[in-house]
Amino acid sequence: MKFKRILLKLSGEALMGARKFGIDPARLEQYALDVKSVHDKGIEIAIVIGGGNIFRGVDSEKIGIDRVQGDYMGMLATVINGMALQSAFEKLGMFTRLMSGINMDQVCEPFIKRRAERHLEKGRVVIFGAGIGNPYFTTDSTAALRAIEIHADVVLKGTRVDGVYSSDPEKNADATRYKQLSFQEAFQKGLNIMDMTAFTLCQENNLPIIVFDMNRAGNLARIMNGESAGTLIN
Ligand code: UDP
Repeated sequence: MKFKRILLKLSGEALMGARKFGIDPARLEQYALDVKSVHDKGIEIAIVIGGGNIFRGVDSEKIGIDRVQGDYMGMLATVINGMALQSAFEKLGMFTRLMSGINMDQVCEPFIKRRAERHLEKGRVVIFGAGIGNPYFTTDSTAALRAIEIHADVVLKGTRVDGVYSSDPEKNADATRYKQLSFQEAFQKGLNIMDMTAFTLCQENNLPIIVFDMNRAGNLARIMNGESAGTLIN
């Protein structure tokens, strides 16, 4: 498969690396280098990054914070991660734009679909922060929605495992990895690839998803060249 424009979903949690909280500079640099190597080949790249390393809305009620408030806090966390990523790209001499689902003009641009597409055409890496700007959604749903809006060819979901397995490979030694699945099969098998909102958006819009291991350096480029394992859902 040849992709011209991709949407890469990075988890916030993975940014922690070996830490318990926040951002691991080594992981940040690895992500930036991996994105650069693909970008250098002329591929247009948009990124959605999560916020789980800083705050997650679902956890807010445990600490006495209203869920909606917590979700907004989670969205702001994704902007912090987006800013970190932006700095890491700029260190490597790349041009990037951070576009937010919640207006905060001093630190980033508002999300405007046509503007995002223009940035991509000009070779800028576009990072979408603050999710879709609404509570009760996830960054996976944001990835699916933004990918559709900017006409991305695929959503690449970076995880810490190299694809979708028949059961949890971290708990079950005989779990097997699927190379390819249809949306229907994934649904019937009850495989947890993305939340249902995100999954349905991709299915209804014929947007393929590739689940792959983003934490192995160089793996993003290998996936793009078809040289590495992952799971394709289409
Ligand atoms: N969030 C939200 N609306 C959105 C996207 C994100 O409310 O459109 C909030 C939600 O609380 C979520 C948090 O932002 O828990 C951080 O994102 P997520 O948990 O998806 O990050 P990840 O698990 O990828 O690190």
